[in-house]
Order: sequence, then structure tokens, then C-alpha cells
Amino acid sequence: MNSKTSFNIGKVTIGGSSPVVVQSMTNTDTNDVAASVAQVRRMVAAGAQMARLTVPSLQEVEAMRAIRDQLRADGVDVPLVADVHFNPKVAEAMASVVDKVRINPGNYVDKRSFKQLDLTDSEYNAAVERMALRAEPLFRICREHGTAIRLGINHGSLCDRIVSRYGNTPRAMVQSALEWVDICEHYDFHKVVVSMKSSNVHTMMEATWLLHHEMARRGCTYPLHIGVTEAGNGLEGRVKSAAGIGALLLMGVGDTVRVSLTEPPENETPFAHKLVDAVNTLTPCDYTIHDNVMEYACDEPDWDTWLAKASALAGHAYYNHRIKDVKLINSRFGKDECAELEATILQACHIKMSKTEFISCPSCGRTQYDIQAVLSQVKERFSGYPGLKVGVMGCIVNGPGEMADADFGIVGASHGTVCVYEGKTRLTEALSVEQAMKHLEKLLKDKMMAK
Ligand code: SF4
Repeated sequence: MNSKTSFNIGKVTIGGSSPVVVQSMTNTDTNDVAASVAQVRRMVAAGAQMARLTVPSLQEVEAMRAIRDQLRADGVDVPLVADVHFNPKVAEAMASVVDKVRINPGNYVDKRSFKQLDLTDSEYNAAVERMALRAEPLFRICREHGTAIRLGINHGSLCDRIVSRYGNTPRAMVQSALEWVDICEHYDFHKVVVSMKSSNVHTMMEATWLLHHEMARRGCTYPLHIGVTEAGNGLEGRVKSAAGIGALLLMGVGDTVRVSLTEPPENETPFAHKLVDAVNTLTPCDYTIHDNVMEYACDEPDWDTWLAKASALAGHAYYNHRIKDVKLINSRFGKDECAELEATILQACHIKMSKTEFISCPSCGRTQYDIQAVLSQVKERFSGYPGLKVGVMGCIVNGPGEMADADFGIVGASHGTVCVYEGKTRLTEALSVEQAMKHLEKLLKDKMMAK
């Protein structure tokens, strides 16, 4: 393998000098075949070049097959990706059905229960070997069917073994990725994409950049999927995504992207395409820095393209030069709009926190409440707590781990109910959304009083 690694996933070429591929993910119940097919069709119409669906258990395997067959019968040949957590048998079943299987090394055989594990080197190595042995059937089936694998490392779901030894750090994410890159290479399997996601823009950039360099050093640069996870919605979600993804693309890193929004999935790809196109017109020389203030002037008339350009350049300046402020000038928009964009970029990069930070997942087939409406309510009611971080997550399976560094959060339970969390600790049984809001309000007020 060399730095030009590229291959096909279905009809799409990824990696090497191929254009950046824009992808998205459904949030329907995968068992609802008609709704999932309809949503994939809308995503494709909106520009998705790859579509991912969650496959939480063996129960969804047949549904996924039916979704694929219906889409192909309808002439929709978008590559399909199965998102699998926890159960290797599901990944193996999916490997002959879809074009790519995403696994999460943090919970594929390995586990996360927030326990400190003090393993000797031989115990540690034995755990990696067990993981490799369990993964063998997946590689065999993927090879037989030409299926790719994404090693989807998430900052919020690293396993106990890795976190105990390397901390909850970008370096730990790189370690997790490299263990699996080694396992892939052990089985002579090279159709591999890697992602390093975090809701924190800097953590995601650092982990991806370190992995990019480490893979180059080893001469095995596999395509990188980049994205800021749990970025939220609206302006905040777009700015966070553009700052992280755009800056990495400007640094020459990234082969496929997902802008992950707590909005209908068909909203993700139009902005992602604008971001990729915008970055193609930029260089880091487009901004200046004086006294740690990054300044960018441009009369871009399209608002989304403008915010994509400004955020990507600011993310680049923040990561490479540790700027302390951002000044944006665009005569097409008013001073207030530019000031709001500046404040949102500063917040996204954690340079200046002027309001509550919200993290929220895009939701998927595991979500059983109206997360988009609840996020809007939470933002409306609880924006005035700068320095605090509030999570709004779709499911109890992955939500608590993914928002573990939030102060408080609402996590979806079953049938429209939610639980309230403090960090990764569940504080309540399943409540109605209104009850949870009241609980959250009291917690936030008490926390601010105690400060
Ligand atoms: S946290 Fe959100 S996106 Fe992740 S598995 Fe749960 S519902 Fe899906």
C-alpha cells in the first residue's frame, strides 16, 4: 500500500486523487423498509453519494436486504453502508449485503463500561489477539463480496482497555485505529476507510491529523472519512462541521465527509457539497493574523458558502496558529450577521464561550423520540449558561458514552420518553420530555448558583 490508496465502494471511488465523496445517514427505523427507502431516495436527490443505515441487531438484517433490493430495483445504485455496533454477527451478516460495513473498534468485541483496567502488557496483547481472532470471519466475508470496512473510532466510545492505558485522548483514538489497521493488514485486507470522530473540533482534528501522519510514516495511508460528530443543528451545527472538516481538507486530509446535523438527513449533503466546493477555492493565504486575531474579508454572496469558507479558514487558523479572535468582513451581509458568525465560530473552536454549548446526535434508527423538536426546545430554554455543556442524544445505547464530557444531558429511552443524565451517570428513570426539561432546568440553575 502507498499514499495513493484508493478503491471502489460500490460505484464510487474513494481515496487517492479521487474527489471528496459526500455521504449521509438515515434516521428512520431500518425495519421500516418503505420509510428507509424513501429517505435514501431523498438523500440521494439532495446529493448523497453514499448512504448509511443503522443495523442495531440481527432483526434488521432482512430489512436491510429488502431496502437494498428495492433501491436497486428502482435504479438507485448509491453505495449502501451498514452501521454496526456491539454485535460481530450483525457485521458478518451485513458484509454480503451492503457495499461497506462500519464497525466501532470501541465496542466490537472490546467493551466500554467506564472501568479502569490495569492490564499487564501480556494481558493487553492477549485482548488485542482475541479481538483479531473474533474479527477473522468479517474479513473473509468482506473479501469474498468486495465489501469495504470503515473503522469508525469515536472519542466517546473508546473501550476501557484503551482509555485505561492512553487516557481519553486523541492519542488513544490513534492507538485504537492502528490496532485495527494492524489487524486488517494481518489478514491482508486493505479495503479500509478510517474515521476519527469527536464532538470537540480540536480533538477530532488532532486525532485525524496524528493518524494521517502515523499512517504515512508506515506507508499505509488508507482513505479517511472525516466529520464532527454530534455537531447539533442550524448555524452551530454547520459552523462546527465546517471548522473541523474544512480545516482538515485545507490541510490536504480527508477523502469522504459527513456533515452530521440534528436535522432531516437530506439537509446534510447540500451544505457538505458547498463546504467541499468552497474549500477547493481557498488556501490558508486567504486569511491574515495580527495580534492573534484572524481576519478574513470576502464578498461571497451565498450565506452557506460564506459561513463554510469563514469557518474552514478559522478552524485552520485556530489549529495551526492558536488565534484568540476572529474578524470577518463581507459587505453582502450586515454587521450583526457577521458578528453572530464570529461568535459561533469562536464558540465552536472553544476560543470564547458566550453561551451554553450543545452537543446533539443526528439521530438514527435507534431514536424513539422527536430529537429535532426537543433540541430546539432545549436550545431555546437553556442557551444562557456559558461554560456549561448540554447533550441531547438519541439513544441510551450510545448516547451516554458519546456525551460523557457534557455536564448534563437528555438521552432518549423508549416510546417518546427520555432520561436525564449528569455526565455519564443517569439521574432519572424514563420521563416525559416536559418532566425532563423541568429537571434539567433545576440542575442547570443549581450548577450556576454553585459556581
Ligand atoms: S447516539 Fe444518536 S446517532 Fe448514535 S446510535 Fe444513538 S441515536 Fe443513533
